Amino acid sequence: MSQKVDFLIVGGGVSGRLLQLELMKRGKSTLVIDDCGANRCTKIAAGLANPLIGKYFTIGWRVPEFFSDLRSYYEELELRLNATFFRPCDLQRIISNPGEQNTWLSKAHKDKYKGFCKYQALDFDGLSNPYGVITVDKGGEMNTRSFLEACEKQLPTMDTRVNYEKLNAGKSKYEGIEYTNTIFCEGYEVMYNPWFKDLVNIVPTKGEILEIETDLQPKGDIFLGGVFIQHIENKRWRVGSTYAPKDTSINPTEEKKNELLSRLNNVLKLECQVVNHKVGTRPASKDRRPICGVHPEISNLYVFNGMGSKAVSMAPRLSTEMCDFILEGTPLDQDINLTRFEK
Ligand SMILES: Cc1cc2nc3c(=O)[nH]c(=O)nc-3n(C[C@H](O)[C@H](O)[C@H](O)COP(=O)(O)OP(=O)(O)OC[C@H]3O[C@@H](n4cnc5c(N)ncnc54)[C@H](O)[C@@H]3O)c2cc1C
Repeated sequence: MSQKVDFLIVGGGVSGRLLQLELMKRGKSTLVIDDCGANRCTKIAAGLANPLIGKYFTIGWRVPEFFSDLRSYYEELELRLNATFFRPCDLQRIISNPGEQNTWLSKAHKDKYKGFCKYQALDFDGLSNPYGVITVDKGGEMNTRSFLEACEKQLPTMDTRVNYEKLNAGKSKYEGIEYTNTIFCEGYEVMYNPWFKDLVNIVPTKGEILEIETDLQPKGDIFLGGVFIQHIENKRWRVGSTYAPKDTSINPTEEKKNELLSRLNNVLKLECQVVNHKVGTRPASKDRRPICGVHPEISNLYVFNGMGSKAVSMAPRLSTEMCDFILEGTPLDQDINLTRFEK
């Protein structure tokens, strides 16, 4: 096979694919090389875009920017790929106890929450939420499996594992493919990348997730709190998730299953059966910020990584910033720039 592209992208999870789509939009030729079968993170992700985090109801880092046109961004992408994979929906953050209720009351008056999330004393059949909920708009869910499937079918892709020993960055030739630039988007596996492993502060973070069957009535909302509860189809719901930093093992554990079920039991009043138990490894970073930039010595080698547990909401905006950086020379936000780790 002989091929010539502007950008070779290693890794076809949500980061690699959104970057590929943005580069193509700007007229660049691309090829994603992805070990599609081994994809353990984007494929198992719940795909939630949630602007309100933690028990202190914090509006996350750069949320106004990331969420302002998130829905229209995915709408446009669905049209481009002629596929359906994003659903805007309300997120119902269940208030778990009086302490959380007090925390919310002390914050609710702040301008940043107005017109964006509101307290409601709603009742949901089958759920225990005596302290009410905070309804968050601007959120949504991405069916990451449908998204990847559409990309694999329609975008330039090579399904194989890149052998770093054969990928001679300087020569810009790999298995008959000629390319001008390489962008690495391997998720947590950047920790094995010979050019970037010592430059990125990646913290692989294992996450476990359950699929259950229960008679909870589908409402179209997503429930958040001690666990998230997300409808899949019919009686099937997704429940997650756990966090185990520095753990790259891929086996589901009884310990985490029981932890999730115990957290679920605090809100679900109905019987449920576990029908599936999955594992993925998030590419988190030490300071919980994405990691983007260019190699300090090789000017055609880039990295786009570190999306942690928020790729669905952060990667759209960051892929445009990354393209501005590569193609226009626009400086990257120092919070995400690889150079912040330089000593
Ligand atoms: C349980 C769980 C729940 C989650 N829920 C959410 C959520 O609700 N919302 C959200 O935004 N995020 C969520 N995440 C996080 C999200 O999945 C990640 O942020 C995102 O998938 C990272 O995407 P990525 O493309 O950077 O990496 P990945 O999805 O890991 O993709 C990297 C790709 O690179 C490939 N690769 C690596 N090395 C090579 C090589 N040498 N050659 C070829 N290919 C290679 C891999 O096979 C893989 O396909 C969740 C994660 C977990 C584990």
